[in-house]
Amino acid sequence: MNVFSHPEFDNHEHLSFFCDPETGLKAIVAIHNTSRGPALGGCRMFPYASDEDALRDVLRLSRGMTYKSALANLDLGGGKSVIIGDPRQHKTEALLEAMGRHLEGLGGQYIAAEDSGTSVTDLKVMGRHTGHVAGIASRTGFDGKPSNGDPSPVTAYGTFIGLKAAVKHRLGSDDLSGLKVAIQGIGNVGFRLAKHLKDAGADLWVYDIHADNMQRAVDELGARPASAEDILLLPVDVIAPCAMGAVLNDSSIPNIQAGIVAGAANNLLDRPEHDAMLKQHGILYAPDFAINAGGIIDVFYERKGASPEQVRAHVDTIGDTLTEIFNRSDQTGLPTGEIANKLAEERFRKHTAGAGLAPQRLACAG
Ligand code: NAD
Repeated sequence: MNVFSHPEFDNHEHLSFFCDPETGLKAIVAIHNTSRGPALGGCRMFPYASDEDALRDVLRLSRGMTYKSALANLDLGGGKSVIIGDPRQHKTEALLEAMGRHLEGLGGQYIAAEDSGTSVTDLKVMGRHTGHVAGIASRTGFDGKPSNGDPSPVTAYGTFIGLKAAVKHRLGSDDLSGLKVAIQGIGNVGFRLAKHLKDAGADLWVYDIHADNMQRAVDELGARPASAEDILLLPVDVIAPCAMGAVLNDSSIPNIQAGIVAGAANNLLDRPEHDAMLKQHGILYAPDFAINAGGIIDVFYERKGASPEQVRAHVDTIGDTLTEIFNRSDQTGLPTGEIANKLAEERFRKHTAGAGLAPQRLACAG
């Protein structure tokens, strides 16, 4: 398995491979860049088919976190960790505690948060052995309601703010009444996004592989149920993918009727060239790592002990960032994902130069 010559290796600062035979822990931590601060990113648990798959994922995701935090103007670096295993079968307290001990050994260069396959509870178990876990503090959330550290409510709010910015850019008004929106994935983020949109007067179409999640949106929000095949291809104004990545691809893009894509799911583009393909088809794409930054913003402020108002004010800047991306895309003819990468690099360099650090090279996030 190559590391330094791996296609996803991008001058990562540090890679750690952890093995704890007693608990079955096999994990990799990738720290991409710490120029702006400690590397913060999720700890994902997934039954990777091979070590190579796990390495590829952690290299790619950790670099993406450097870009996400730089674009959101946060004093954080980019990192991510993966635990190789099926969370439903292999996740034990002992394994999570072993992970916590290993994280402690990194001395705070990397701070873990929840991700797919891990929960706030799991992070708290790791936290028995390390202070380098985040997104676990009970406090007053950005909306004045009690929060247990779960970033989903703030991610949903940030996505709503970003969606409004996209609508304003494309349709000239951010009045959402009567706007037609199709949401794929009615989970922690999708349902809350649906609620914001409903409150703003939008008409909703929803689909989720779990029928009860979809039914909840139908019953509580008056949404219309759609099918797996149709949800992203309906004749609506906006599609909001909030389930999984790679849904913007060769087969979906030519058939998308909506003028706007604005959803929270990570890695929406199947391949980097789908960024340009969306633009060619006249679809305004809100880059995923710009619109879904609410969670990382919230976790950043949790660590600083900031007020709910500070969190909300920072999350509101997601709309300004997207408007800048859309305007630059119009001016240059470049697709929005490419502009978002360039803007992240600019913000990264401006900050690191201002701090007297040697601005390191960053290659465009793919
Ligand atoms: P979640 O697991 O709570 O919700 C995902 C929902 O999608 C579930 O209801 C699931 O049943 C549904 N789903 C899965 N496959 C589907 C499919 N093929 N078609 C339709 N529905 C499907 O996850 P979440 O926390 O709501 O996150 C949603 C997305 O947003 C993920 O891609 C996640 O990585 C991304 N994201 C989340 C956060 C956060 O704070 N939670 C932050 C940034 C990005």
